[in-house]
Amino acid sequence: MTQADLSQTPKVYGWCPGALRPMMSGDGLVVRVRPPLGRLTPDQARGLADLSQRCGSGLLDVSARANLQLRGIRDTAYDALIDGLRHLELLDEDAAAEARRNIAITPFWQPGDDSHRIASALAAALSAADDLVLPGKFGFVVDCGPTPVLRDTAADIRIERCDTGVMLRADGADHGLALTAETVAQEAIALARWFLDQGGAPEGRGRMRQLIARRALPASHVAPVLNAPRAATPQPGPTESGVLVALEFGQMPAATLAALADHGALRLTPWRMLLIEDDSDAAHHTAPTHTAPTLAAPTQSDLALEGLILEGRDPRLRVTACTGAPNCHQARSTTRNLARDLAAYVPAGRHLHVSGCAKGCAHPRATDYVLTATDPDVFDLIRNGTAADQPLHTSLSARALRAAPDFLTEGN
Ligand code: SF4
Repeated sequence: MTQADLSQTPKVYGWCPGALRPMMSGDGLVVRVRPPLGRLTPDQARGLADLSQRCGSGLLDVSARANLQLRGIRDTAYDALIDGLRHLELLDEDAAAEARRNIAITPFWQPGDDSHRIASALAAALSAADDLVLPGKFGFVVDCGPTPVLRDTAADIRIERCDTGVMLRADGADHGLALTAETVAQEAIALARWFLDQGGAPEGRGRMRQLIARRALPASHVAPVLNAPRAATPQPGPTESGVLVALEFGQMPAATLAALADHGALRLTPWRMLLIEDDSDAAHHTAPTHTAPTLAAPTQSDLALEGLILEGRDPRLRVTACTGAPNCHQARSTTRNLARDLAAYVPAGRHLHVSGCAKGCAHPRATDYVLTATDPDVFDLIRNGTAADQPLHTSLSARALRAAPDFLTEGN
């Protein structure tokens, strides 16, 4: 690898920021909060909005693992932020416990259902397993609704519904372990220990999918994984659990979060959307219910807030862009202005990813069109690939792309 190659190679940290282990970025500290069950009460949401304004840049991101990031936190305000998170009951005991509790739950859970009970038991089991040291990005998905909706959400251990109860499986495996909702949390911890015992994390890094590509599954994992129909990514609008609203580039100003809290508790999703709970039992954590909302959902005019996308046909839903320059030290260019300008030219059903560098944080998977920055306002175009793949065209200027946006899709 040449020196030039090295300077183009994005740095891989191998861990995600937390509240107790923040990450420095170009705009200050990034502090990631993992609310239990991916849910914020209205008071917690208002409290986070206030902390974001007082201690940071006033901008918050919803991450691809359904966590909330406060951006631009000043060094000098970090201690006050931590006190505030503790007061809101959004702080783990220590950084290790916070890192272990990496659980994404279907945002459509209902109080008392399998997803709710399993995620609660798993969080408690992970909190108690203080000898379990997993790689920084190692995560669990609890997705036990009628159809799995989190199959595209990165995870190492997945828990889904099956014919006889629930299925525990290693990510990437075609067989798993059929269990009951009562026993699966402890077995998930056992599978995480198996991963470590099998050498899944040499030097503290590694993913389950990589391990099972070279090792046989545990002998008890003999139940075939059902090929459930792939659920389409939900669109903004009403659902049985509440109203989904999307965030432009997964980001919102603190004032928008505070205003949303006036409509109910909020659930974080991995689709850069928030679900505003309806005022059914879900908002009060009482008995299980699968009924439709009974009270009026917020109206479109209630939700006309900065940074929100309310329509499934909004072209901004067809683009993804990371924070880019100047907020990320590794970025070679700004990204979001170009993504916003090109959105209307992305055909329906297709997707454009504008990435500040080859790391491709905002959309690690392959997609239809990718623009990877190589210099300020200069991009490589990749089709049907990731931000790091071989480009079809190199050194395209942002100005030329804006002037001839059809170039993105020509011949495709
Ligand atoms: S992809 Fe974007 S956010 Fe990720 S390191 Fe590169 S510039 Fe930064």
